[in-house]
Amino acid sequence: MGIRENAESAGNAEGADSAGDAESTGRADSAGSPSAERRDAAVRAAVEQGLVGRDIPIAAFLDITGIRASAAALKSAFAAATSAPVLHAFAVKAAPLVPVLRLLREEGLGAEVASPGELALARAAGIRPAQTVLDSPAKTPAELREALALGIAVNADNPQELARLDALVRSAPSGSPLGIRVNPQTGGGSIEALSTATSTSKFGVALRDEGARDWLIRAYLDRPWLTRLHIHSGSQGIPLDLHVQGIRALYELAEEINARAGRRQIDTLDIGGGLSVNFTSDEETPTYAEFVRALQRSVPGLFTGSYGLVTEFGRSLLAKHGTILARVEYTKTSGGRPIAVTHAGAQVATRTVYAPHSWPLRIAAYDPKGRPKTGPETAQDVAGPACFAGDLLAADRPLPLLEQDDWVAALDTGAYYFAHPYAYNSLARPAIHGFAAEADGTVRFALVREAQTVAEIVAESGGEQLRALDGM
Ligand SMILES: *Cc1c(COP(=O)(O)O)cnc(C)c1O
Repeated sequence: MGIRENAESAGNAEGADSAGDAESTGRADSAGSPSAERRDAAVRAAVEQGLVGRDIPIAAFLDITGIRASAAALKSAFAAATSAPVLHAFAVKAAPLVPVLRLLREEGLGAEVASPGELALARAAGIRPAQTVLDSPAKTPAELREALALGIAVNADNPQELARLDALVRSAPSGSPLGIRVNPQTGGGSIEALSTATSTSKFGVALRDEGARDWLIRAYLDRPWLTRLHIHSGSQGIPLDLHVQGIRALYELAEEINARAGRRQIDTLDIGGGLSVNFTSDEETPTYAEFVRALQRSVPGLFTGSYGLVTEFGRSLLAKHGTILARVEYTKTSGGRPIAVTHAGAQVATRTVYAPHSWPLRIAAYDPKGRPKTGPETAQDVAGPACFAGDLLAADRPLPLLEQDDWVAALDTGAYYFAHPYAYNSLARPAIHGFAAEADGTVRFALVREAQTVAEIVAESGGEQLRALDGM
């Protein structure tokens, strides 16, 4: 179901003329890279196979080969560094899609969840409780009770939550590994809204606040069942050294608690996710291996085998492997500026549209047949379909001059973009397709999420409550 094949497209991907096209469009950053070749082949095949077209002006695509490679790179980077058990819990919020979670499970990953919805997605994908970590900052008593009944690891965010855990642990035995989240207060990065380790961050117990360290140590000494410590000090825009500094603070605190306890009470460190992603080219940098090397230099004790580890990467596993493909419906000029009006805007690229300087996206141009578009570059706006002026995927962007019926691709959108649709203008959620090359080089697609229908939009917008306000 949802699988179609096409014989012609793959030859094109590997053919000499496709690389030549990429170069002449000025996309030297991506020309020739295997991921760019796979993407170009998928765009061509998607057009030829009718996954997009005149009446399907937008769809999203996930490069399954790339996702598997990222998962493998994550696992091998840590496996090479420590003999202790490591759980890589994928942060579900980065790509809340059941088939993707199942694919990652098949690659040996678990799930980090932060809401009842995310937990339900992980369970629907077959991810076992022992491979699941619950981290949200606002867990209700019912969520905590469910997590402990299932044996899911929980990291308490604050003293009030710890008090709830106290009561639950007293009332019934649980196999859940339990810990506390700390904020190392090592400082923010280039994107304020995403910086988790600022001095006033809402997350975790603020480690450098007056009395906090002593309170934490006491909390562990009083509770022999607290066996983990958690931090999530990275995020997009956080430099690697700051990220690693936070993890060092976590390690030092664990060593201090264990020394005071006179035993290895804390046996597992959850070091969070938050590896920054390169949004400027197809290069995946920093790599997981570089991240592990930085940790080895700065926190060698992490890898002596005395701590099990949990990671919670999201964006760095998925971002590079997603593409939004949208049709150019119209082109025009306004005040001398060429504008391409496409079907991708705020509904699929919300962060980019509302915070374009923090979240610029690369745009690739394709002709009506889905071939990389060539020609001299002209600065132009790539606009979305929504009815507000700021609905731009890119402003003043040099690209081959876009024409009606061309395609634009918003690259690196595999995490926190099309999987996070925004309902502005009641624009429908596009379909998401996974793609991979067959042994013979043809591109095969599989439907990951159906496009939302207009009937569904009506139903989700109170359609069933049609008469609710009559006579009120
Ligand atoms: C969002 C989040 C992650 C994943 O962050 P990425 O930047 O996507 O890697 C991991 N852990 C926690 C607690 C988070 O909130």
